[in-house]
Amino acid sequence: MTLFDSPAFEAHEAMHAFYDEASGLRAIIAVHSTARGPSAGGCRMWPYPSSEAALEDALKLSRAMSYKNAVADLELGGGKSVIIGDSRTQKTPALFEALGEAIETLGGRYWAAEDVGVSPADLAHARKRTRYVAGLEGHAAASGDPSPVTAEGVFRGVALCARRVFGRDLGGIGVAIQGVGHVGGRLADKLAAAGARLVITDANTALAEAVAERTGARLVAPGAIFDAEVDIFAPCALGGAITLETLARIRARVIAGGANNQLASPEVGRAVFQKGLVYAPDYVINGGGIINVAAEIRALDAGAGYDPAWVETKLQRLTATLDEVLQRSLDERRPTHEVANEVAKLRIAEARMG
Ligand code: NAD
Repeated sequence: MTLFDSPAFEAHEAMHAFYDEASGLRAIIAVHSTARGPSAGGCRMWPYPSSEAALEDALKLSRAMSYKNAVADLELGGGKSVIIGDSRTQKTPALFEALGEAIETLGGRYWAAEDVGVSPADLAHARKRTRYVAGLEGHAAASGDPSPVTAEGVFRGVALCARRVFGRDLGGIGVAIQGVGHVGGRLADKLAAAGARLVITDANTALAEAVAERTGARLVAPGAIFDAEVDIFAPCALGGAITLETLARIRARVIAGGANNQLASPEVGRAVFQKGLVYAPDYVINGGGIINVAAEIRALDAGAGYDPAWVETKLQRLTATLDEVLQRSLDERRPTHEVANEVAKLRIAEARMG
């Protein structure tokens, strides 16, 4: 891959490669943009097959964080760090201390948080060497598990879609939830309380049964969720749930859920639009999690405590942005994910121009 020509590069401000011989750290920190504020995004540990693969992932993920932070209207830019290694066998305190030193050299241009393969306990080691780490436990600024805030944002987004598409509240609306883990399980509770008719699935049968029991949801096998006769399909499991094949089976008129990267490809996004479905772009509707992390960064910076009122204001703004994206998609006859990208890019460009 040629660095500046990579499609994932897209105007990154900086890419930093770090090597620490003593701990074996090999890490890349990509900073897509600091126009709206310091870049923020998770740290991922993954056994990448090559440094090119790690760089490409870091670039893609940091750009995605720029967009996500901008649509959530946070005073944060986008960045991401990746550690090349196997999180099951190669984690040591020294590795994360070396990561902390690497982050510290950027002088606050990048804030790290958890991502795949990295836990709050790992980040506590990084924190010994830098203050630019969020997602820790046990202090007044700590934001804790982001899932409840993510689920609340998704719930409000689903309710918004029901109002827009069906002209009514959630009472009696059929919702299929794929994956009832931290986000999907809480979403199920909220939807059940609002009177929605639920169909759920999860690869973890015991978990699915427990959620069905307490919400009165109908339980189906993982492969059958796409065929459910419902109004809204809520992907809350892993990425890539919506493919051309699954889209052909989905009966719902709305796709709105918490999972990241729901569309298997941009072509699927256009197919969703052509089929006349309303798709709440994943990184807009699930922005509650990053709002929660931003609340911690803000509190750490100010030496203050976590502020739930600020989180609530940002959640309201997030739902308003989703409404704007859905309306513009209708007005301009364009897929919602394209409109959302444009809203994000515009907000970043405006911040660049000051
Ligand atoms: P989780 O691991 O707690 O839950 C995911 C659930 O999906 C698990 O119970 C798993 O068994 C199930 N699952 C996986 N593959 C499945 C399949 N093919 N069919 C049915 N069930 C399947 O994770 P989570 O924290 O709830 O996150 C869910 C999604 O939301 C992920 O895509 C995540 O990236 C995204 N997300 C989470 C947050 C957050 O705050 N936790 C924030 C933003 C985005």
